[in-house]
Amino acid sequence: VFILAIESSCDDTAAAVLKNDKVLSNVVANQLIHNQYGGVVPELASRAHQQNIVPVIDAALKKANINKDQLSAIAFTQGPGLMGSLLVGSSFAKSMALALNIPLIAVNHMQAHILAHFIEEEGFDKPSFPFLALTISGGHTQIVKVNDFFDMEIIGETTDDAVGEAFDKSAKILGLPYPGGPLVDKYAQLGNPKAFAFTKPKVPGLDFSFSGLKTAILYFIQKKMIENPNFIEENLNDICASIQHTIIEILMDKLKLAVATTGIKQIAIGGGVSANSGIRKTLKEAEQKYGWNTHIPKFEYTTDNAAMIGIVGYQKFLIANFETSNVVSKARIQF
Ligand code: ATP
Ligand code: FE
Repeated sequence: VFILAIESSCDDTAAAVLKNDKVLSNVVANQLIHNQYGGVVPELASRAHQQNIVPVIDAALKKANINKDQLSAIAFTQGPGLMGSLLVGSSFAKSMALALNIPLIAVNHMQAHILAHFIEEEGFDKPSFPFLALTISGGHTQIVKVNDFFDMEIIGETTDDAVGEAFDKSAKILGLPYPGGPLVDKYAQLGNPKAFAFTKPKVPGLDFSFSGLKTAILYFIQKKMIENPNFIEENLNDICASIQHTIIEILMDKLKLAVATTGIKQIAIGGGVSANSGIRKTLKEAEQKYGWNTHIPKFEYTTDNAAMIGIVGYQKFLIANFETSNVVSKARIQF
């Protein structure tokens, strides 16, 4: 089975070709245009998708050494995401599936962040059901009980900002360019995580809150900058390490509670923030510390990519879960 997968939910135009559960090519075109605005501008994102989609798909087919007539099906991101961005991918997928007379498969982007773990990769174990998925990305923060490929239950989620936003907004306060998450990670590796303390939010149950942390960091920085205008410059590594440490503690506290409530000790992380080196290290250590079995995705399957759309496409192909051209994109979508 050869699946062409298209991902265009936010600001990255991505295409991948899978042969069964193996990735033959995985191409991403990042849209750098948004960096100067400090965030994704939806209208610019859909325009850039329109420019990128043909060359990105061409590149994915070429890299996979596949002719489009060999394709078994086309999978695309149905949602959640920016409507204008989603429409570029879905329209293209619909026309191409129609032209080639092959099945069309709609994929939920958040399910894909989780099911990316089922891509066949040397040195990576696939989780077995049931497991707990911690999906941490630019728009979501969820703990999901995954009973089967398409039987998922959100047991906890953020009540305000996503963890990726907490990283990006903290970075913005520190004057770092967008998206700041990877930069906070980079500087945190050189700093002392206990240098500064930020209070953690008190949210009942398995839900999260990150907006208070952002405000706490803003007030802390404002106060320190009055005392010393060079405060950020002189302490950047320690500030980043402390912010990252606090975020990791918040995530780990809830994950421990989720394990205690469900009795499931198999954990998989996914989404852009699962690229974070501190989170990856902490999860790895949890194997020894708490007796968990943790799954950390290959780096290239953390932030938005089409390979993860392709693996869901493959699973849906196996059960003939196809769509007609009437299928609609959805900015918000549950499992
Ligand atoms: P969603 O998947 O919820 O729709 P999205 O697709 O926009 O949102 P992803 O691409 O999955 O988000 O993740 C992007 C987020 O991941 C950004 O907030 C970015 O700052 C963050 N991120 C990426 N790498 C790192 C890192 N190393 N450390 C911390 N955050 C990171
Ligand atoms: Fe994403």
